[in-house]
Amino acid sequence: PTLPYDDQNIFAKILRGEIPNRTVYEDEFALAFHDIAPAAPVHILVIPKGAYVSWDDFAAKAPDAEIAGFVRAVGAVARQEGLDAPGYRLLANHGHDGGQEVPHLHVHLFGGARLGPMLS
Ligand code: 5GP
Repeated sequence: PTLPYDDQNIFAKILRGEIPNRTVYEDEFALAFHDIAPAAPVHILVIPKGAYVSWDDFAAKAPDAEIAGFVRAVGAVARQEGLDAPGYRLLANHGHDGGQEVPHLHVHLFGGARLGPMLS
């Protein structure tokens, strides 16, 4: 992976319950919570419970059940939040040029308005 996994990253701390978050969804494979600095009316981060830096790291190392569970969780969060019909955007930043700041895989879920061409 572009970045090493760091057990002290902020999302690892959230998964361990060491810092608070606004959880909207949790299951065996995934946790979803509101982004602390929303870039859209709805801005949720969905993360796998396992220790993976990026989408590519996850795809390479995670057991298939974890991949399937996580992918399904992303859709479940969007449906739960009422975003399926109006629509939404998913985004995963990878590495430096992608603007990835936290080295634990996270999928941004944006919605709640007609979105412009790009969002970080
Ligand atoms: P990245 O740039 O790595 O793709 O996105 C990291 C995201 O995590 C940013 O949108 C940022 O606002 C969010 N974030 C950073 N620290 C925290 C935090 O402590 N709690 C929450 N809920 N979100 C955070």
